[in-house]
Amino acid sequence: MRILIVEDEESLALQIQGFLASNGYTAEVSFDGEEGLEKALVEEYDLILLDILLPGIDGIRILKEIRKEKMTVPVLLLTAKDRVDDKVKGLDAGADDYLTKPFAIPELLARVRSLLRRESDEKSSLLKIGDLEINTATHEIKRAGRNITVTAKEYAILEFLLYNKNRVVSRLSIAEHVWGDNFDLFTMTNFVDVHIKNLRKKILSSPEKRLIQTVRGVGYMIKDETL
Ligand code: CA
Repeated sequence: MRILIVEDEESLALQIQGFLASNGYTAEVSFDGEEGLEKALVEEYDLILLDILLPGIDGIRILKEIRKEKMTVPVLLLTAKDRVDDKVKGLDAGADDYLTKPFAIPELLARVRSLLRRESDEKSSLLKIGDLEINTATHEIKRAGRNITVTAKEYAILEFLLYNKNRVVSRLSIAEHVWGDNFDLFTMTNFVDVHIKNLRKKILSSPEKRLIQTVRGVGYMIKDETL
């Protein structure tokens, strides 16, 4: 786990870095906003601890730049006690949590752990192919960042195809997965075709570049177009 600390109070920054290191995290420090922003945009971090009051670029602007680049890295803001406005601005700008100074270091560690845990839970429930993404926890579907609404059966088919991406899945196994085996599977395989047709429309799969491909005589396969 790699953490970036952007904090201009050097002694505090180094104290946090030492504490995180002794708890098994790799922590890097930037003492100014410009460098912090550059690191955040170029390097990959699992978490960013971001002070708001910084010389040069302040923390809120750094946060806005990061989110503008569609980076979802969790950000924990460090705010001064007397600046209540900053908390609101920070959360509006896309911060995941904030901690008011002065804070106890164990409290910081607890927040860090919780954010990292939340992030890994979210990652493990995301299935992706190309620009299509489904969240198996919330059943949300997105294509190129746009939300797509499907029926429960369509969702079940899409999720099943995604679990088996780049592999051919027979119509029979899709039917079994979605309806169980207590239905007339011959009829159900025809239902599969209808649902696939509707799914294709909804996820805007064009005929020439089909995300869901038909494998004649067998079934279907969801395939990364870039492969
Ligand atoms: Ca500061």
